[in-house]
Amino acid sequence: MRRRIVAGNWKMNTTYTEAMALVDGLKESLTEEVVGETGVIITPPALYLSDIVESLVENPYIAVAAQNCHEKESGAYTGEWSAPMLASLDIDAIIIGHSERREYFGETNEACNTKISQALNNELAAIYCIGETLEERKSGAYMDVILKQCEEGLAGFIADDMDNIILAYEPVWAIGTGETASPEQAQEVHAGIRAWLTERFDAETAQDVSILYGGSCKPGNAAELFAKADIDGGLIGGASLNAADFTAIIEARTKA
Ligand code: PEP
Repeated sequence: MRRRIVAGNWKMNTTYTEAMALVDGLKESLTEEVVGETGVIITPPALYLSDIVESLVENPYIAVAAQNCHEKESGAYTGEWSAPMLASLDIDAIIIGHSERREYFGETNEACNTKISQALNNELAAIYCIGETLEERKSGAYMDVILKQCEEGLAGFIADDMDNIILAYEPVWAIGTGETASPEQAQEVHAGIRAWLTERFDAETAQDVSILYGGSCKPGNAAELFAKADIDGGLIGGASLNAADFTAIIEARTKA
């Protein structure tokens, strides 16, 4: 059965001290009642992963992910880090194909496909991000764009692989803009992705894949998004930098 998940993407934010304080805040606020059956993932800057994993060793609720990995296992790629390196830190997952990486670092669907393989080969889950730009939304062809990202990013994977792949639909026009897709707009896309998963794999696999919504999700709009049948949770940017806001979003997921 698919999981309800709320993941926080901290991006290139927080100093070390701020990051550790944010983790401490979450350790305090994420009680059994708040979390329930919701899977909680935080995605701090890579520099802090090791210390954060250590500080969460006894915490039963918070999993840790990285924001990216390189396509190769190792080699002469100054300034980069690989999936085997991340796995050696005992983290749980890697975000792959975030729209900021696609936009600023030229990440293609094919590169994402390789990175997802890297994650899975190293026993890490992949959180694969897909979503259309404002122009693509306005053109009306947004579903074609999203399904192409699914097709190419997930090329070669089999149904069993989908146990370790979470999808995150993040309309680029809603990320960090304060503008959120309406619950109906988001549900339409999530249902379209699930229909594609049914055709590409099978109905059972499609029902079991968690599809998260991302794009200015906050305490004030989380509950109505999570109430939709195919929205299994959220990938949260800005609001995940505040322990109270992130906690409120998790609570909304648990109660919806
Ligand atoms: C994101 O970047 O994954 C995101 C959803 O950001 P925000 O919540 O700030 O729009």
